[in-house]
Parts: sequence; structure tokens; C-alpha cells
Amino acid sequence: MSDLLGRLRGRGWRMTAQRRVVAEVLDGEHIHLTADEVLARATARLPEISRATVYNTLGELVTLGEVIELATDGRAKRYDPNAHRPHQHLVCSGCGAIRDVHPGGDPLADLPDGERFGFSVATAEVTYRGLCPDCTRG
Ligand SMILES: [Zn+2]
Ligand SMILES: [Zn+2]
Repeated sequence: MSDLLGRLRGRGWRMTAQRRVVAEVLDGEHIHLTADEVLARATARLPEISRATVYNTLGELVTLGEVIELATDGRAKRYDPNAHRPHQHLVCSGCGAIRDVHPGGDPLADLPDGERFGFSVATAEVTYRGLCPDCTRG
């Protein structure tokens, strides 16, 4: 559960109507929306919201560390509110659906010292790819 709104309230984030709508659109589980999808959903709730406000608010939430920006190969960046529970992603090669997953191991710890080439390694991302049930039925 991301509880983005609760976290933002807890840290005293300035909550205008427009900013609240952006946070509401992103709140929830398995949320990985592009900026344009956030804009479309925010506009459905608050027609006067501006594109600039949506984009600026997304940037601010990323800077705060409350939302993760996912770069997915060739597709538009996606915004993920599940910023505080380390997780990896399961991506459908057919439709692009994304689920949060929690593999048993720690991908960072799993890289042997002999394969670190003197790097001080900070993060690791694993993407599992395949076809979701809908696309398998295709
Ligand atoms: Zn699919
Ligand atoms: Zn995620």
C-alpha cells in the first residue's frame, strides 16, 4: 500500500486542490502511470488543472523521494508511488502492464564481489518480462 497522501500530509507538504488531485491519482497499489496518464486522470477530477502544474508536481514528488520515476526502455517514463518498500517490476511485453513484485533475494547483495570491478554499487533493478494472463489468452 503506498498511502502517498498520508505520507505527504505527514511531512507537511503544501496541499493545494491541484496538488492534492495529482497525489490522489497516484495513490494506491501497482500504480505506474505516465505523466500524460496522470494528467488525463487529474483533468477528469479537476478540469481546470494545468499541464504545467501536473508536471511540476510530479517532479517535486520525485525530488521528495515520495514517487519513483521509472525509465522503461523506449516507452514514456512512469511514476510509481510505492517508494518506500523496495520492489522490482514484472512487465508484460505485450501490453506493458506492470506489477510490483518482491523477489526472495536481494539483487544488490547477489552480485559477487568479484564482479563489482571496484565499483561501489548503490542500487540494483531487476525487471521480469513475459506475457500477462490477458495477453497469453490473446
Ligand atoms: Zn499484457
Ligand atoms: Zn512499482
